[in-house]
Amino acid sequence: MTEFYEDGDNIADTKAPDGPIETRWERRRFGAKLVNPANKRKLTVIVVGTGLAGGSAAATLAELGYHVKSYCYQDSPRRAHSIAAQGGINAAKNYRGDGDSIHRLFYDTVKGGDFRSRESNVRRLAEISVEIIDQCVAQGVPFAREYGGLLDTRSFGGAQVSRTFYARGQTGQQLLLGAYQALERQIGAGNVEMNARHEMLELIIVDGRARGIVVRDLVSGEITTEFADAVVLASGGYGNVFYLSTNAKGCNVTASWRAHRKGALFANPCYTQIHPTCIPVSGDHQSKLTLMSESLRNDGRVWVPKAKGDQRAPGAIPEDERDYYLERIYPAFGNLVPRDIASRAAKNVCDEGRGVGPGGLGVYLDFADAIQRLGRAAVEAKYGNLFEMYQRITGEDPYEVPMRIYPAVHYTMGGLWVDYDLQSTIPGLFVIGEANFSDHGANRLGASALMQGLADGYFVLPNTIGDYLAAGPFEKLTADHDQVAAARQQVEDRITRLLAINGDRTVDSFHRELGRIMWEYCGMERTDEGLRKAISLIRDLKAEFWQRVRVPGDGEGLNQSLEKAGRVADFFELAELMCIDALHRTESCGGHFRAESQDADGEAKRDDEHFSYVAAWEWGGEDAQPVLHKEDLDFEYVHPSTRSYK
Ligand SMILES: Cc1cc2nc3c(=O)[nH]c(=O)nc-3n(C[C@H](O)[C@H](O)[C@H](O)COP(=O)(O)OP(=O)(O)OC[C@H]3O[C@@H](n4cnc5c(N)ncnc54)[C@H](O)[C@@H]3O)c2cc1C
Repeated sequence: MTEFYEDGDNIADTKAPDGPIETRWERRRFGAKLVNPANKRKLTVIVVGTGLAGGSAAATLAELGYHVKSYCYQDSPRRAHSIAAQGGINAAKNYRGDGDSIHRLFYDTVKGGDFRSRESNVRRLAEISVEIIDQCVAQGVPFAREYGGLLDTRSFGGAQVSRTFYARGQTGQQLLLGAYQALERQIGAGNVEMNARHEMLELIIVDGRARGIVVRDLVSGEITTEFADAVVLASGGYGNVFYLSTNAKGCNVTASWRAHRKGALFANPCYTQIHPTCIPVSGDHQSKLTLMSESLRNDGRVWVPKAKGDQRAPGAIPEDERDYYLERIYPAFGNLVPRDIASRAAKNVCDEGRGVGPGGLGVYLDFADAIQRLGRAAVEAKYGNLFEMYQRITGEDPYEVPMRIYPAVHYTMGGLWVDYDLQSTIPGLFVIGEANFSDHGANRLGASALMQGLADGYFVLPNTIGDYLAAGPFEKLTADHDQVAAARQQVEDRITRLLAINGDRTVDSFHRELGRIMWEYCGMERTDEGLRKAISLIRDLKAEFWQRVRVPGDGEGLNQSLEKAGRVADFFELAELMCIDALHRTESCGGHFRAESQDADGEAKRDDEHFSYVAAWEWGGEDAQPVLHKEDLDFEYVHPSTRSYK
């Protein structure tokens, strides 16, 4: 036992096949039990989430013959946060003939994740990547094409090949429309029951199996219990624990956290991705940050003035007084270094006093060279909607003056622990997309979240869930079953408790303060001292929340303060676990930079001897400490080395 957590037994991924890596997925698929078509009709699967992961999974499971109940809190499944994805999706198609291959995508992803992901999973992801593009093209997704009609690609960080397929700056939207129309088809066919504006507030476990969820109808306030033979969480990431992030405002951790409290292990919660190219914070009033896609680093050059405190307008700073610091420090990858590296480099030059814009928290992303080389029309064709978005938000024209950018919270590599079959530690509870702890290790490479979400939803889960469901259908449940009624009671008690506080501080004010603590102490740079302080501040703020929060209105209808209060309450508990995870991992790796663990050049220093494992946390109980279980990572094919992009 330590000051903040207890040590538990090691765990292992018992579903992961061994043997030659290129045959593992095929062998697992063959080894998994099948469910015959007549039996599929008798089996129900709940899918929480309609983003790229949940939408593709629900459509595919229904197409296979299962009965699917789908849930999202938005007013339409196609408003899931995935719609915001801009830059593209990776696939090892090697259309460019520039040396790409499944092995290279596998290699880049394991290396990009700083050797903290599972080889078997990443290899499978690289294999499936090529099928995803075919699937989406067949659906009619309008990927960008070259003059000759072939699918176009562009480059993204952490790769020296061009393997990112895209639809202008709206790739997520176009992919989601593809998944959505497949989903709508199944809704129309009666195979998917769609429940928009419904929020899952609890997981129902009966006899050790996930058997359903408790949901609140966000319009009428009605609380119901919903049953199935298996439950799939595709509820997205938790970056909004930082309050300010590039995520949609609604993104939250509640579905995952409720499952965690019921026994699902939560893996690597401290692995957060800070994206280097976002529009800088403009003031205290702000509630949302905006991403400027990584694709812009294909043609934009990142720089700051060489001199500290140089206040001149960018156009007045001559070439030889500019520091194109990414090109200088990392000549092999230049502006296309991975996100963790680019973010820290931006922070370093700003810390040196060379940042630009208000408060000195910004660096330039400059397109002058690209416009001169390619012409304005070509730049507009590639990035027009991103430039327009930037101009609308900042009032500055990026065709004339460089964009100002700064790192911001963007993606969470941590999430519920799953095995190779994507099943959590609760039998019958599967987790896909950003909600699981994913294949990205300690740092996700750009354009690989869409790849993973769609791989999980279209290809992996539909093959693995049958192995579990072959034992079903399970006992029929009714609302008066003891364990069902208890789960429902938990939801009702919590709502009653939140409404009864009737304090004097808004939910948002607590969320904003929590976010500041997290950004300051568990953001781009973490220290032992800072994390300890954060844990203490979070605990105090959480106690204050439960005494002073004011949730106006009641639970009988639409009440957005009530929705937010429940989500922020869960963020408090998650935030504490994130800090404990970050505190215990005294190495630096990927998005997790511990100031105490850096080399002479200020680069992250990994400690493979002590930390080459997945940290999977068990909920200890309301007043008890979390329990740490370790899953050791083995590297047979991509041997851990110091990650260098120089
Ligand atoms: C601005 C931006 C740009 C990005 N661009 C790219 C890119 O170019 N390439 C790339 O690979 N990745 C990109 N990403 C990352 C990528 O978009 C996400 O990781 C991915 O879309 C997540 O998909 P998902 O299906 O897992 O979750 P989401 O799309 O977040 O969907 C979550 C779903 O779960 C539902 N849900 C959540 N909780 C509950 C609950 N309690 N009850 C009911 N329903 C619930 C929601 O309603 C929603 O339908 C970007 C991210 C951002 C923020």
